[in-house]
Parts: sequence; structure tokens; C-alpha cells
Amino acid sequence: MKAGEKIICPLCKQETFVKEGAILDGWTVTAKILKCALCDGKLADFPEPATEPATDKNKNTGLSAFANFLGEDAPVSVKHNISQDVRRFCKDCAHFIEHPFHTRCGLWDKTTDPMDDCEKFTPRKS
Ligand SMILES: [Zn+2]
Repeated sequence: MKAGEKIICPLCKQETFVKEGAILDGWTVTAKILKCALCDGKLADFPEPATEPATDKNKNTGLSAFANFLGEDAPVSVKHNISQDVRRFCKDCAHFIEHPFHTRCGLWDKTTDPMDDCEKFTPRKS
């Protein structure tokens, strides 16, 4: 995460930009943080400054122009882990009945697709 990056804020759930901010003790900056441009909620501690000039311009979208303006191109240390967002596919459901010609759901008693997902998903016991 870096200043200028477009994100969905985990606090206010709005599409927003990462903003650079500071925690003040009186007039003294005690810590720099990254915060939501909309709700001002703290998103992360300010990343360590990059130790070498950034040469990878492939990710240069219009959205990062703001980051370039700030002179910040810190490495993204937090990657979105898509694998944690596990889909509840019918093929992994206890009600799923495999058949050579069509696959059925034993719960709804109808043809289903292995890659469907279902509100009645029941994890299959291995
Ligand atoms: Zn927010």
C-alpha cells in the first residue's frame, strides 16, 4: 500500500485513495501513517522509504500519477491474498453427485455445475 493507491477502504468500505498522514503530539510528528482519504481512518504504518530508485514503470497507471507527484514509489509490501477468498464450489459440496454425463445436486435434486456455488454449501468430508 502506498500514497495515491486506489483501494476499497476496510473501515468505511468506500472506493478511495490512500493518503499520507501524520500522528501529531502537539506540533511534533510522532509517526507517519497511511490513511483513508474519505474517512481519515488509519490504513497502515507508513512504509519504509525505497532504498533504490524505482525502475519498474510497468505499473504506471493514471492512478499512480498522484504517487509519482509525491515522489513516493515504495514497494508494495502487502499483497492481496486471493486464495483466502475461498469460493464454495458445488464440486466441493457434500451434496454434489458426480455422474459421467451430468452432475447433480442431491439436495436440490437437479442438474448443477461443478463450478456453481450455493447458499446451502456443505463441505464434503474427506
Ligand atoms: Zn475510509
